[in-house]
Amino acid sequence: MPELPEVETIANGLNQVLPGEMIKNAEIFYSGCIKGDITSFQESVKNKQIQGVRRKGKLLILDLDRDKHIACHLKMTGQLLWEDQEKGENFLDKYTQVVFNLASNNRLLFQDKRKFGYLGFFSSDELQQWDFIANLGPDALEITEQDLKDLIGNKKTKLKSFLMDQKMIAGIGNIYADEALFKAGLHPCLRACDLNSDQVTRLKKSLHNVLNKAIEAKGSSFSDYVDSSGNSGSFQEQFCVYGCKGEKCQHCGSILETIKVSSRSSVYCPCCQPFTDDR
Ligand SMILES: [Zn+2]
Repeated sequence: MPELPEVETIANGLNQVLPGEMIKNAEIFYSGCIKGDITSFQESVKNKQIQGVRRKGKLLILDLDRDKHIACHLKMTGQLLWEDQEKGENFLDKYTQVVFNLASNNRLLFQDKRKFGYLGFFSSDELQQWDFIANLGPDALEITEQDLKDLIGNKKTKLKSFLMDQKMIAGIGNIYADEALFKAGLHPCLRACDLNSDQVTRLKKSLHNVLNKAIEAKGSSFSDYVDSSGNSGSFQEQFCVYGCKGEKCQHCGSILETIKVSSRSSVYCPCCQPFTDDR
């Protein structure tokens, strides 16, 4: 699933090309990806100008003129691809669910193999009041050490689950939770409330470090992820634990193990990430 660095990379890419583009119309090939009524979605986006693209947690938001917005959640395998007419690009395939035809004759495509992703049209008020956005915690890139301490409070949740809960911190999924916990030397099953001050400091630093490095590498293309031009990211080459079960820890040489936390598989180093911290 695209997480914060992948969605940030897509938003950055689209921001280079979409502002100023006018949506001529939207062709919909799979009605299940539209939140609400399809005809109303098509009517609403028609002749709207795209002013910018931004990320909110793992959600992409296209800001349109007249205080309107298209929100897009890529979920597991969604992609937003921009086709440059002059280069003769054509990304249309059997997974294409929506085509936004732009006045410049360029196109913006939404495609999704697994069909969990979706798009919705919102006014500014509706967007703010939408449960999904109203319930998001602070953004993982912007979170401060104090925010993290306040959020942890006396929560007994296991650290891995805490990090992936979008109501606590927005933007982190399985990949970056595992990588940040490894960098911080914290076991995924530690209770959030048991972290001491040093551990919270380490966790916050590791989160920012891992996320920023992943953005620099234009995300991780572990499965289906590509950016808005169809290019893969390269952060998977820097993975220390995610997808590395059974391999040797880069730090200490121990064999990396896996453990289930809230039905998600976590890879960790039993030596660098002890269950009790005695470093
Ligand atoms: Zn290790």
